[in-house]
Amino acid sequence: MEAEIAQSNGERLAAPATRLLPYARRKEAAAPTRMEAEAAVRTLIRWAGDDPDRDGLRDTPARVARAYEEWFRGYREHAGNLLERTFDEIGGYQDPVLLRDIPVHSFCEHHMAPIRGRAHIAYLPAQHVVGISKLVRVVETFSRRLQIQERLTDDIANVIDVSLRPLGVAVVIEADHDCMTTRGVRTHATRMITRRTLGAFAEDADMRRDFFNAIGI
Ligand SMILES: [Zn+2]
Repeated sequence: MEAEIAQSNGERLAAPATRLLPYARRKEAAAPTRMEAEAAVRTLIRWAGDDPDRDGLRDTPARVARAYEEWFRGYREHAGNLLERTFDEIGGYQDPVLLRDIPVHSFCEHHMAPIRGRAHIAYLPAQHVVGISKLVRVVETFSRRLQIQERLTDDIANVIDVSLRPLGVAVVIEADHDCMTTRGVRTHATRMITRRTLGAFAEDADMRRDFFNAIGI
């Protein structure tokens, strides 16, 4: 089975469908048991210099394992499925649909440290539009995996492009990375901005500028 992936030049190229699947469904990796996960957390507590058996920390490994199920549930979800239900009656509407300030909570894959920010999405519908909450869920699904901000931006743009077949799509993410702001050189005020434009947003400078103006970048 083949799916299509949008390229940076706006073309859609055939690519293995597995590219859009969560990792867990791509690879038959034996999942660790909950006990193994909790033992790993105990090791990290000791590595940090504390005693996992003291009162305040005794239940922490179990809590962390449960929190991981929530923070990384994106591995068990398929973002494309979220966009299957579309509305085709768009009347004479011909302008971009813009969704601003979608919260982003993710974890960088280099340090497993939080990435916090906002995503802005615009698409120019051809035939299909989708419920606002579905786009928010797409951002959540890709965010709740270990990520780099560049790929997160690409993944969101690509799945909208492949699923909705719009005339264009643009995604901007602004985010703070705890691994940059709390350690090393401590560049506190550093905020990273990534963007991906496809189709009409890549080709039409006015449309692109309107989008960037609307989100204030
Ligand atoms: Zn990092």
